[in-house]
Amino acid sequence: MSKIRMTTPLVEMDGDEMTRVIWKWIKELLIEPYVDLKTEYYDLGLEYRNETNDQVTIDSANATKKYGVAVKCATITPNAARVKEYNLKEMWKSPNGTIRAILDGTVFRTPIIVKGITPYIPTWTKPITIARHAYGDIYKNTEMAVAPNSKCELVCTDANGNETRSLIHNFSESAGIIQGVHNVDSSIASFARSSFNYALDMKQDLWFATKDTISKVYDHHFKDIWAEIYETEYKTKFEEAGIEYFYTLIDDAVARVIRSEGGYIWACKNYDGDVMSDMVATAYGSLAMMTSVLVSPDGNYEYEAAHGTVQRHYYKHLAGEETSTNSVATIFAWTGALRKRGELDGLTDLVDFANHLEEATIKTIEDGIMTGDLCLLSKLENKKKVNTKDFLKAIAERL
Ligand code: NAP
Ligand code: MG
Repeated sequence: MSKIRMTTPLVEMDGDEMTRVIWKWIKELLIEPYVDLKTEYYDLGLEYRNETNDQVTIDSANATKKYGVAVKCATITPNAARVKEYNLKEMWKSPNGTIRAILDGTVFRTPIIVKGITPYIPTWTKPITIARHAYGDIYKNTEMAVAPNSKCELVCTDANGNETRSLIHNFSESAGIIQGVHNVDSSIASFARSSFNYALDMKQDLWFATKDTISKVYDHHFKDIWAEIYETEYKTKFEEAGIEYFYTLIDDAVARVIRSEGGYIWACKNYDGDVMSDMVATAYGSLAMMTSVLVSPDGNYEYEAAHGTVQRHYYKHLAGEETSTNSVATIFAWTGALRKRGELDGLTDLVDFANHLEEATIKTIEDGIMTGDLCLLSKLENKKKVNTKDFLKAIAERL
């Protein structure tokens, strides 16, 4: 066959450790034989980030704004141990945080469902996608421990120097704690628009929930901003697409989620999203089967796996030992990006290829050929654990 042509490049963000190894193999075995792959390459591996004082991360995010679609490999977020290990000039920030801040995006995480691996909630037959608002609330808080007999107030000074005060608590004989949190309308609005756009993209219902009955100003403000944007910008589009925007109280949302069959997008405030995404990922089986896409309100997309660089497997790999590392989420990052590129550029061949690669990946697992992490979960009778590369080869055969 002649290779499938691309017109616009994908922004390719390479990464670290075991996922960097897998990255190269996925391209060699599953993509490049069939697609005349066009990418603009950025090396976000920790060594090159350090060499460029992290400029490469910023450049890759700006390229995503230029071209609209990126695919990213997992990357190390340095801590003290990594600063030593890689002899870093600085403890560079999380690349994901930097990219998210530049794109002003929301992260959507979706589990990949295969036969043989039953979610812990057996009614969840379709994926539940979680959208997490990644700005503010307790993640940008100010906290204090308070001595006994202290009076604590919120004080806001406006542009004219006028103060508004509100009592938090009069502490008596017991010491205590206080916390100040904030959010900004522009970020809440971006979160809403990214979520509405993604729901239209996926043709799935969108749920949103807060604790507005208790937090009558703070959480209620989220509810109001979402409602206004929905009414003025999205209502007609949702009706045309035959999908629904559903707002409810967070307590009601969790109860409905458990009883549901899945198949919708659940937008969560920052803390709810942090906690619920871990719960949902665990319930579907494995972090290695979770894809993630960052969507900006103006329609830029960055696809990646939800898991990290699988450091422990990488050290085995370096020592010349065989690993059985699951590449599914990284493959789906590539297919997500190729499909989106195909849709935007009107390349049906490319869209079809992305769909076929996903089908081949799922078929491989459903045929009983899988990596060790899935072997532990799968209820198939004739399952076989294979190493990292043999799993990719088995997909290539089916593709
Ligand atoms: P991790 O890479 O997600 O791996 C944690 C453990 O989960 C692994 O040791 C492995 O368990 C299992 N696992 C995860 N992905 C797997 C896969 N594809 N196949 C098989 N097993 C898999 O998390 P981490 O070890 O905490 O973090 C390592 C590095 O990744 C850190 O430097 C962190 O900063 C970075 N990180 C990056 C991102 C990102 O770029 N989006 C996200 C999270 C973490 P077993 O060892 O038991 O087999
Ligand atoms: Mg979490």
